[in-house]
Amino acid sequence: MTFSKSVAAALETVSLRGDAFINGEFRPAQSGQTLPCVTPIDGSEIARLAACDAGDIETAVAAARASFEAGHWRKMAPREKKKILFAFADKLEAHAEELALLETLDMGKPIANTKSADIPLVVQTVRYYAEAIDKVNDELGPSPHDAVSMIVREPLGVIGAVTPWNFPLLMASWKFAPALATGNSVVMKPAEQASLSMLRAAALAAEAGLPDGVLNVVPGEGAKAGKALALHMDVDGIVFTGSTAVGKLIMGYAAQSNLKRVALECGGKSPQIVMEDCPDFDAAADAAAWAVFYDQGQVCTAGTRLLVQNSIKDAFLKKVAAVAKDLAPGDPLDPDTKFGALVDETQMNTVLGYIRKGNEEGAQLVCGGERALGQSGGFYVEPTIFSGVDNKMTIAREEIFGPVISAIGFGDFDEAMTIANDTIYGLAAGIWTSNVNTAHRAARTLRAGNVWVNCWDGSDITTPFGGFKQSGFGRDRSLHALDKYTELKTVWMQLRD
Ligand code: NAD
Repeated sequence: MTFSKSVAAALETVSLRGDAFINGEFRPAQSGQTLPCVTPIDGSEIARLAACDAGDIETAVAAARASFEAGHWRKMAPREKKKILFAFADKLEAHAEELALLETLDMGKPIANTKSADIPLVVQTVRYYAEAIDKVNDELGPSPHDAVSMIVREPLGVIGAVTPWNFPLLMASWKFAPALATGNSVVMKPAEQASLSMLRAAALAAEAGLPDGVLNVVPGEGAKAGKALALHMDVDGIVFTGSTAVGKLIMGYAAQSNLKRVALECGGKSPQIVMEDCPDFDAAADAAAWAVFYDQGQVCTAGTRLLVQNSIKDAFLKKVAAVAKDLAPGDPLDPDTKFGALVDETQMNTVLGYIRKGNEEGAQLVCGGERALGQSGGFYVEPTIFSGVDNKMTIAREEIFGPVISAIGFGDFDEAMTIANDTIYGLAAGIWTSNVNTAHRAARTLRAGNVWVNCWDGSDITTPFGGFKQSGFGRDRSLHALDKYTELKTVWMQLRD
């Protein structure tokens, strides 16, 4: 089995530019160092990425600061800003095919997903925040008769954004679109595993008329470029999506430097609860499987703890397993493939390590559990289900970020709620039930930023996204996201008679 032909064909149709994008132009890392860009489809190197460090971050932050102070973007009339962001969205849409290929080549998710979800959602995100530019008003306070109090929003200044590889451009757009819409200048540090789409997008933004220095992209390792950005004394806000462990470091860097504002979207270990009165058994089993297997489980909201009421557990898990067994990993570039590769060899080995741990700690392997398509040179793991999991086991406590379901039985509603909330995370949770009372009680009891009833991952750009507990704080998406990128200023004017 080799996928090298499809990789070669795809490479002919995309622009692979791994240099940093600073002040409106591509440039190599100042050190001249590069990192390999390996496609997990067949393990081959497809490009080199600028290995930027503190020196490049210094240049990018200076460019962002200069553009902010000059006001080329900040002071532009709202309608003009909106026009440019719409032109940017149009360019992203016109290059959707290329951007989808870049995402799939870079991180191995099926091309069907990047074409139907990732890139269209990026376009939608940029348009949504472009629209917001001239729709959100400031406020007047209830001041006395001889005064006027104005509550105005101002851009924070220079925003640093550190983003992950699982939805590379989509997670980045949840940061840069509201940041730009509120008049900030931005320095993006995409994940080193998947930076190509963000670099391409920044060039498209420049073509659309975004002034130089307003959107900069500095690729490189987290511990070098990401750390330097979060520690920088002239960055006003750092927004982050990634693991909880790195989120904690980011908070520390902000504290050690200039108390820059911090917003964190971190990991999850989300429970999906299936009650015995679950409305549609087949639909629920299908959704429960896809809640974990979509994008090979590399989704922060993956419903990896599947809590099923004991009375229906065996029958329900049989159906979930049937979905898993039907789902063979395949070439991510094949439009018919539904289940692709993991992002890299390290991630694959981490996932296989957790599967070993599940076996060692006494969980029962229902299906999967092995590396797949090894002869392709790529990094694939079979859809995997464990049953008989205790919520104290490692595979129920730690985020695996791979296609592994940990199924846990429970007796009644109260036990389900206790198990569901027994986690350090609080990103998402869901319940399947026909009883509206049970649904409402669950929605009030579950400690998570997203609660789904009779579905998984129902969401829209108009609704906030983020977590409770160690899943972070601050919200992406919706108009609430604008708060992260603005300062509130009170202006009090005394009136003369
Ligand atoms: P990660 O934490 O390893 O990396 C995220 C980013 O942080 C990358 O750009 C990386 O280079 C950078 N980084 C790493 N070390 C750093 C350091 N010391 N200083 C500054 N930056 C550093 O996460 P990942 O593996 O890219 O992504 C997977 C994680 O992201 C999972 O935990 C997942 O749950 C989480 N995630 C959360 C959401 C959400 O919205 N809550 C969305 C997607 C992914």
